Amino acid sequence: MTIDPAVLAAPGFGAHFTDHMVLVDFSEQSGWHGRRVVPYGPLPMDPAATALQYGQEIFEGLKVYRHRDGHLRLFRPDMNARRFAASAARLALPAVPAGLFVESIRQLALVDAAWVSDRPGVSLYVRPFVIGTEALLGVRPARHATYGVIASPAGSYFGDTETGISLWLSQNHSRAGAGGTGAAKCGGNYAAALVAQTEAKAHGCQQVLFTDAATRTWVEEAGSMNIFFVFADGTLVTPPLNGAILAGVTRDSVIELARDRGQRVEERPISITEWKEAAATGELTEVFAAGTAAVITPIAALVTDDTVIETRASGSPSTAQQLRDELTGIQHGTIPDRRGWLLDLGPAPR
Ligand SMILES: *Cc1c(COP(=O)(O)O)cnc(C)c1O
Repeated sequence: MTIDPAVLAAPGFGAHFTDHMVLVDFSEQSGWHGRRVVPYGPLPMDPAATALQYGQEIFEGLKVYRHRDGHLRLFRPDMNARRFAASAARLALPAVPAGLFVESIRQLALVDAAWVSDRPGVSLYVRPFVIGTEALLGVRPARHATYGVIASPAGSYFGDTETGISLWLSQNHSRAGAGGTGAAKCGGNYAAALVAQTEAKAHGCQQVLFTDAATRTWVEEAGSMNIFFVFADGTLVTPPLNGAILAGVTRDSVIELARDRGQRVEERPISITEWKEAAATGELTEVFAAGTAAVITPIAALVTDDTVIETRASGSPSTAQQLRDELTGIQHGTIPDRRGWLLDLGPAPR
């Protein structure tokens, strides 16, 4: 298929799909088998499949970058593979071995390499997923599953975000509770968050912020992004991985980059009250969100029922901007990768 150059130049996020996909079958008897690259298209499925009836589905999200040497590279895919296995365990799905995970992504990236732009800020977002495919209305884990990988050219997630986005504080809806699936990357979490996301949009906000389900006191995350706070003394604070928060690869990378820059990073509970008070005194200088899709995005305001808490970075460039430049520099190959974070998928034709 010929690729529209206008799409590749400004692909937005998740709206266009490449020409192929990878599929692999699982059965209890045969394990993972039948890996194949096929044209992108609909999946025939039994209407009683557990993925459709009971939401037995997990996914991952990572990006392929085209470097100046013509090679395609992945950023820390080992972390995605580990998290995919942990999500599988939580949703009672078979885990995809790390080798199969990386190999299937490599195969798709190379066959659809023409979709990987080397423009700054543009990459190929890869979406691996596993669905329970056994036809079954009785409730138990499926004995048949399908692992798939699709890909979509990715530019800016929010459009223009120089000045930051605003978050809506969800007061009635929770994303995850104790013992729930908050730490798993599964479609069900997103289904549960859609109504809160719609509420956020209705209040003029781009995203929703979730607090803990039990007390609605503590900041958790934004539903597809982890949250960081920057204090006047340079300290970064981010909520701890308490089982309800998704352990972001971007979150982990930001923590390491900030520490290497000599900044203190605290993983500790932070409340809406502390956010409000520290913003008022000027002690809190920045808030930003971190995730593969949105990279690092400043949060300019938290909007609640009765107030708007604004944070505008005073320094220039802001901490968020400096971390974003360093992270994307490593990812796109313009800053040396001293930590062995990149995996070379090999040379690829344009
Ligand atoms: C994927 C995801 C994130 C971000 O994780 P990254 O590995 O940094 O992309 C944060 N929260 C949720 C709920 C997610 O699904």
